Parts: sequence; structure tokens; C-alpha cells
Amino acid sequence: MKNHRSVLIVRPQPSRGLGAFYRNLGLTMLATHARSSGLEPLLADLTFDDFGTALQQESAVAAFSLYIDDFACGMELAAAARQAGRVTVVGGPHVTLLRHDVFALTDAFDLVGVGDCLPQAMAAITGVMRGGGVPAARIVGSGTGTARMDELVPDYTIWPEHRYFPVFPVEFSRGCRQHCPFCTDPVLRRGVAVDPVQRTMATLRGLADRYGQVWVRFVDSSMSSLGTDLDQLLDAMIAADLPIEWAAYAYPHDITPVLASRMARAGCRALFLGIESLAEGVRVGKHHTKHPGEVSQAVDLLHEHGIFVHGNFIIGLPGETRRTVEQTLAGLAPIRFDSVGGSPFFLTPGSTFERRPEKFGIRILDPAWRIRQHINFYDPAHEYFATATLTQPQMKVLHGQFRRHIETEHLACWNLSDYAALCWLSVGGSMPDLAQLWQRPDGELSHDQRLVVDVLKEKTGLTLPRQAAGFVTVAHRVASQSRARLAGL
Ligand code: SF4
Repeated sequence: MKNHRSVLIVRPQPSRGLGAFYRNLGLTMLATHARSSGLEPLLADLTFDDFGTALQQESAVAAFSLYIDDFACGMELAAAARQAGRVTVVGGPHVTLLRHDVFALTDAFDLVGVGDCLPQAMAAITGVMRGGGVPAARIVGSGTGTARMDELVPDYTIWPEHRYFPVFPVEFSRGCRQHCPFCTDPVLRRGVAVDPVQRTMATLRGLADRYGQVWVRFVDSSMSSLGTDLDQLLDAMIAADLPIEWAAYAYPHDITPVLASRMARAGCRALFLGIESLAEGVRVGKHHTKHPGEVSQAVDLLHEHGIFVHGNFIIGLPGETRRTVEQTLAGLAPIRFDSVGGSPFFLTPGSTFERRPEKFGIRILDPAWRIRQHINFYDPAHEYFATATLTQPQMKVLHGQFRRHIETEHLACWNLSDYAALCWLSVGGSMPDLAQLWQRPDGELSHDQRLVVDVLKEKTGLTLPRQAAGFVTVAHRVASQSRARLAGL
């Protein structure tokens, strides 16, 4: 084992191309805590960096923060890091849900951090570096605790500046008060914790001081549901008048004329509205309205204030049939979404659907699915559950039909999420330009336009490090050409 106080922080190539150009908050906080514990974080971002070269650096520990979609890749990398003599540590939502089951799945990780456990993880890592060895329990943190915010202000300097869009993740709250039966958010932690407004403002000020104009993606589960806490943050942002534009998750139910106006004045440019389904008989959470009129009113209010709106749907929730998908499509047709997107339903560990499958008519087809669920992200043939009305392949077919209907009827851009919108705005683009490029046939796009649009659409990733390193520059060029063309019309 190497004997240096460096921690190698590893980000696998993300499964979705656009994520490669975004500073991830989990790794940012890992680096922030490492620094605060007197350690030196070294980033190996494998879209840009070579893992073999990274492993030649002096570091005793290799640390990962993984989601389900990069979990398979993370396991392989951790196994290689272990073979190269590193102690391997993993955290993130997927291992928080799996807990001890991680060890039934793989021996690639020496230590597993569960829940909001960075201070404890740093104590374990520094113990390893002092030669104390890996704690026998191999699990750090309980992951069953009440939601609590990180006390450190995020330090984003681990990310080299020119690789990424100037879009930064910021967290004002953690957790969710709702218990939507498909969602794991309430399982990861209990209740909601909200950051003191001054601390979030310190993060925002720090970003503006260091980087100038920035775009912020609030990663809160439901920013719009925070009531007076949100009002106070928005008022502070309006008063500070920082060069910051932002986007967040929200629910139509929460959008009032006053809130829409306040959000816009505080710099909100785009919202991701969680709708899931507009059909009676499909199980969504109580916080998700099924009334197209209510959704439409929220979208119109947001538009009045210049806020771009993405509506998100899940196809295949219990109760879904071909007819309910048609109902949802009929319900959303008159709503003036700028973008509509979604995905087939996936059963997740710890969710209400998983804990009471019989109640919701869910059949488990693969008894070991909890530890094998990540297989879905590279093997589409892996089938592990079915609802009373649909198999997973049927959900995928209906999802494909849903998408085709949105596109052929020109109801909205398909899956132009608020994050893609922020990336485009951050390179000087305008939303009308992007919407136009988004809907243009591939054959009518130049090479650069197609490259940028394909990455923003998450259709493709960039596997060549040199091409990836120049991608944000290409996006700048395409955005300014689009603006010039529009100005010349
Ligand atoms: S879907 Fe949204 S509102 Fe429902 S529990 Fe999850 S985060 Fe909360």
C-alpha cells in the first residue's frame, strides 16, 4: 500500500454523455471533506484521464461515489485499484440502499459508506492512512438517520476549469417529506434538512467571486416545496443580485403566481416538473397532480416569467396500460411544455412498491434482483419484475410509443431537460436556438451541431479524451454561430 496522504477520487465515464461535463456534487463534497481532514484529493475523471496513469500517483486510498448507472463500471475500476494496492472506499445512493448486500455482490470495495457519512468516512480513511487498517465492520455510517445538511461549504476546485460547463450543483435542502411509492428518496434519509440561507448564499457568492457568471443546478429533491425556507433564500438571492441563473426540480402543485415571480427574479431559468402520469388508476405519489388543468396553469405561470419548463413522466407504474398512456398523452397535449421526457418504470430497493409488492400487484422475477438491478443499465434483456398489467419489455415498448407521439405530434422537445438547458445557456446559447436545433433532422445539422446536440440529448458520449477536452469549446462555437445566424435574419 502507498503511504501518502492523497486520496484518489475516481469518476467512471458516466453512462449518460452529458454528465461527463458536469461537476458532480457527491465527488465535490468528498474532495471538500478530504481537504478539511488534511488530505489531498486527486481527481481521476475517466472521461478525460487515464486510469492506469492515475494509479501511478501516490495515493493510499481510491474513493468512489456511485449511482446505479455507473455502479458496474465502478466495481471494475475498484477491483483494479485494489489490485494496484489501494484501499477502496465507496459511497453514494446505490450502496446506501444496498448496505451489507454490497459485500454479497462484490469484494471490490474495502469500505462502504452508507448515508450522509462523510465525516465518519474521513475518520476511517485517515485511520487507514495512519496504518490502522480497515475497520472490521467495513460499513461506515448507518444511513438510517434523519436528514442533515453537510456543514462544509462545497469546494469545487478539484474540477479543472475548462473541461466542464460552468454549471454547478448546489444543495439547499436534503430529503423529501413525501413518500411517493416508486421513489427511494424518503428511504435514503428521514425527513427534510434545510441549509441555513447564509451558508447557501456563501456557496453562491463563492462561485460568483471565483468564476464570474455561473449557472446553478439546485439538486434538492423538491425545491418548490420548501415554503418559507425557499422564500427566504429567493429573497436573499434577489437582494444579492449575483450573476447566477439556475434550475431545479419542482412540482406543479406548488407553483403560485407569487412563487413563479419570485423564482424568476432570483434568476430561475428552467424547472424540471415531476408529473409521472396524468391517468386515473396509475399509482403516483400524492404530491403529483393528475389534473392537466393544474399542470397547465403552473406551466403558463412559469412561462409568463420566462422560465423554461420540462415535464417528466414515468411509463409503466402499477396500473399503467396502453389506455392510460393514451390518457396521459391526451392530458398533456394542450399543456405548453417546452420539453417532455421520461423513462420506463424501474422497481428500486427500499421503495414502498418494493416493500409491499403484493399490495401493488408487483411480481418479482429475479429473487436476487436487489444486488443485480444495476445489470439493467448494460443488459436491456435483464428482466426482474412485472406489474399486474405490464412486463418490463412492454413498459419499454410503451415508453418508445410515448416518445414517438411527443415527437411526431410536435408537442414539445423530447427530453430537453433543465440541465441541458443550463449547459447551453452557460455557453451563450438561447433557448429558442436550442429548441430549433433539437427538433431539426440529423441530416440538416453540421458536424459540430450534431455532436453538441447528440451529447445534450444524451444520445452519445465522447470516448476520446482529447475530443472530450475540447467539447465545451465546440459547444461555445455552435451556440455563438446560432446566435449570429438568428441576429442576421
Ligand atoms: S418523487 Fe419527488 S415528491 Fe415524491 S418522494 Fe420522491 S422526491 Fe419526494
